[in-house]
Amino acid sequence: MRPRKKPNLVPRLNRCAPVIIPFPEDTSQIPALKGQIRSAFPNPDAPLHLEIGCGKGQFICELAARNPDINFLAIEREKNVAVVAAEHAMKRDIKNVRFLLCDADFLPQFIEKGELAQIYINFCDPWHKKRQFKRRLTYRVRLLMYQTLLADDGELWFKTDNYNLFHFSVYEFQEAMPPYFITRDLHSSEYAQDNIVTEYEAYFSGLGQPIYSIRAKKAAASNG
Ligand code: SAH
Repeated sequence: MRPRKKPNLVPRLNRCAPVIIPFPEDTSQIPALKGQIRSAFPNPDAPLHLEIGCGKGQFICELAARNPDINFLAIEREKNVAVVAAEHAMKRDIKNVRFLLCDADFLPQFIEKGELAQIYINFCDPWHKKRQFKRRLTYRVRLLMYQTLLADDGELWFKTDNYNLFHFSVYEFQEAMPPYFITRDLHSSEYAQDNIVTEYEAYFSGLGQPIYSIRAKKAAASNG
């Protein structure tokens, strides 16, 4: 379901200009962003982490506030939602987070190979009909694409409340990027303590649903 169109969306986005990286409307201009993402941060040399589908930004803003020496790029294709995330970052005056309002499929056009130290995907759309599997953000072709953007030893962390998406994703990860950690109950796992809860996570775990999670690391390229 599409969120209701927010009133004053354009002026609100304009007020968030300090934390939003402009995304070209003319798609032929997207490659010009390559190598420019880092310079949008006060400390361009810090490691770069990416969240795909940040929603209202609770997770990425808290993560950025806790880790001032890392740059966090969040992409979100829904402007009505992304504006809430950008306002959150502005309100807390978080310096090391930037938002890009675009679809994940554009990533290879503006992120350099090996540029990312970490990727987070939280509660992405399950696309529950079988024939829709190619749209899922954990579809193996996308996992392979994310992997090219990760540096050696870079990690991909995934969380969901949706059992079918989890089950599908375990299979996809095993094919494309073998996981080192799989759980059917993140909140009771060894990673529970440092886990930063997203908006969807708070909602679904409040309903008593377990949170599933998968973590994988990109293997260092072998020389031989
Ligand atoms: N991560 C947030 C929001 C989850 S809802 C949370 O856990 O609370 C999934 C979000 O991903 C939505 O806001 C949706 O607009 C965004 N999204 C889905 N597919 C996307 C894509 N291909 N590219 C960018 N954003 C996407």
